[in-house]
Amino acid sequence: MATNSLDSIMEKWEPVIGLEVHAQLATQSKIFCRCRRTYGAAPNSHTCPVCLGYPGVLPVLNEQVVEFAIRMGQAVGCRVRSLSRFARKNYFYPDLPKGYQISQYDEPLCEGGSLSFYMEDGSVKTVGITRIHLEEDAGKAIHGLEDESYIDFNRCGTPLVEIVSEPDIRSPQEARRYLERLKQTLQYAGVSEADMEKGHLRCDANISVRPRGDGEFGTRTEMKNLNSFRGVERGLAYEIRRQVDILEQGGEVEQCTLTWDEAASETHLLRTKEEAQDYRYFPEPDLVPLEVDPDWVKAIKAELPELPAQIEERFTRDYNLRFQDIEILTRERELAAYYEAVVDGGVSPTEAARWVLGEVLRVLKEEHQEIGEFPMRPEALSELIKLCSQGIINRNTAKSVFDIMLTENLSAAEIVKRDQLGQVSDSATLEDTVLQVVSGLPAELERYRKGETRLLGFFMGQVMQATKGKGDPQVVRGILQRVLDEA
Ligand SMILES: [Zn+2]
Repeated sequence: MATNSLDSIMEKWEPVIGLEVHAQLATQSKIFCRCRRTYGAAPNSHTCPVCLGYPGVLPVLNEQVVEFAIRMGQAVGCRVRSLSRFARKNYFYPDLPKGYQISQYDEPLCEGGSLSFYMEDGSVKTVGITRIHLEEDAGKAIHGLEDESYIDFNRCGTPLVEIVSEPDIRSPQEARRYLERLKQTLQYAGVSEADMEKGHLRCDANISVRPRGDGEFGTRTEMKNLNSFRGVERGLAYEIRRQVDILEQGGEVEQCTLTWDEAASETHLLRTKEEAQDYRYFPEPDLVPLEVDPDWVKAIKAELPELPAQIEERFTRDYNLRFQDIEILTRERELAAYYEAVVDGGVSPTEAARWVLGEVLRVLKEEHQEIGEFPMRPEALSELIKLCSQGIINRNTAKSVFDIMLTENLSAAEIVKRDQLGQVSDSATLEDTVLQVVSGLPAELERYRKGETRLLGFFMGQVMQATKGKGDPQVVRGILQRVLDEA
């Protein structure tokens, strides 16, 4: 393997990447039967003759599945076909009891959209969406510690959309950002929980490289199992290096399917030369073609919730925050809602952002919590921020009160009162403290008066410590300056 950095490889070579993302739809029941869609239930406890593929049973399409797929299509600007068709994709695997998967092939439900997102430097990247089609998931093979394997069929028939991008992605970082944006859009549109750890979002990639400036695409490989954001970035970087290595040694990239092994940080070869014809697709004879009423599509579009690009625009307009901050605040709808509730409590948007991005996110990270599990209600945080901006407590004290509020069911005002944390801004009291501190440090005072004025900060620290952090820093600074300069 070349040890050159990816950046230097990419100066000469351009990767061409398209992603195929399977997203599990958050419907009540499965796509073709009435079994509940579950996660973590006892194995084979949510199955029936339809999803187990018994002979003679007939699938019945779940309307909510179609509605969710149309909603996602509308969220990324796709056209919805008034007539689409289901097809059988034939292959054998133990977790697929029917011996075929019901999918859509040449007549998918949605076609031709796009997704835009920010890159780290603030530039906007747009990736085309080729199609979004419906399909059913397979079961899950569980490989035991010994030689045995088990099959859990609960996942059989779980509704999926497959979202296929155009080969518009040009780096592993862009692939990661695209996937993050897709996850965010699925969640904002309310069609998928899109939890990667639960396998709600699974990503495969098509990838080739070509000399920079070349118009032709190189031979592509397919990579499966890029099932985390980190995995997408690292797996693609690995494959770019592998292909460039082959080409730079005068070889040819062979068309093949690889799987990314996250733990070993390497790829394994699954198969070579796989073609669509190997699956013997044919129209599903047990389902009529799917006809969609254009009025229904319009109604779904009209009821679309606010989407990531819209909320980013609104936050920019209403709150005047930096785009990097907006991006973090709006990554999850729940966090954005929490932030807005803090602002609605009557505090400035900038202050609210500072607290949510600082203290709230710090605690969520430390406690491995989601914002939904965060114990402090937004109104309670607003009250705390107000005490701070009114000068009743200073920022350091406010941070301690914040930590106490997380464990004790008390309001900020109650804690400030109980622990007597109110800021001291009474000049006479503070002047006494200042004089005491300064007279206890004659050597430093001498140095200060000889011109070492940067010692002001040291004196500030000493006085603040003497007030146990409760001194109003502005008042302290004023008094201190005066006392020090009075020779
Ligand atoms: Zn079933």
